[in-house]
Amino acid sequence: MKTAIFPGSFDPITIGHVDIVKRSIPLFDRIIVAIGVNTQKKYLFDLERRKAWIQEVFKDYPTVEVQSYNGLTINYCKEIGANYLLRGIRSASDFEYEKTIAHLNHSMDAEVETILMLSPPEYSHISSTIVREIMLGGGDVSKFVPKEIVSKLKT
Ligand code: ADP
Repeated sequence: MKTAIFPGSFDPITIGHVDIVKRSIPLFDRIIVAIGVNTQKKYLFDLERRKAWIQEVFKDYPTVEVQSYNGLTINYCKEIGANYLLRGIRSASDFEYEKTIAHLNHSMDAEVETILMLSPPEYSHISSTIVREIMLGGGDVSKFVPKEIVSKLKT
């Protein structure tokens, strides 16, 4: 069974995240969208809402599930038997960052393979950070988040 995890904060999920997961569905038997809980980090949306939104977006995709985890991503992979760690790349700076993390993870557990998937150019400017900033500034984020959650995004 090929299990991949797609870890992140998803604060909130964007159409860029959804694109990466949907394009990965044919590659894996199971994809776990995994919300990492970092006690040092402040999130705009609470964990339950972030989780519910992702579940709603993928409700018709039986091989995609949503979980949350504490601690190191690589340890969580071992715990749930995921051999693939999926990340999205929007830019050269994403690549540099992800390369370092992938090498670190590989040195901790060589059985987990990091798979980096490029975002399409039309989504490469989209990030949760930008969505939060537009929202906090009172702007319209409906072009950047999945349609299922547009009406639910009230802080
Ligand atoms: P993190 O805080 O771990 O970066 P995010 O929720 O911001 O978590 O992102 C999770 C993953 O999704 C990361 O690999 C990130 O590069 C990727 N990602 C975010 N936005 C996009 C996008 N627009 N296109 C492709 N991948 C993206």
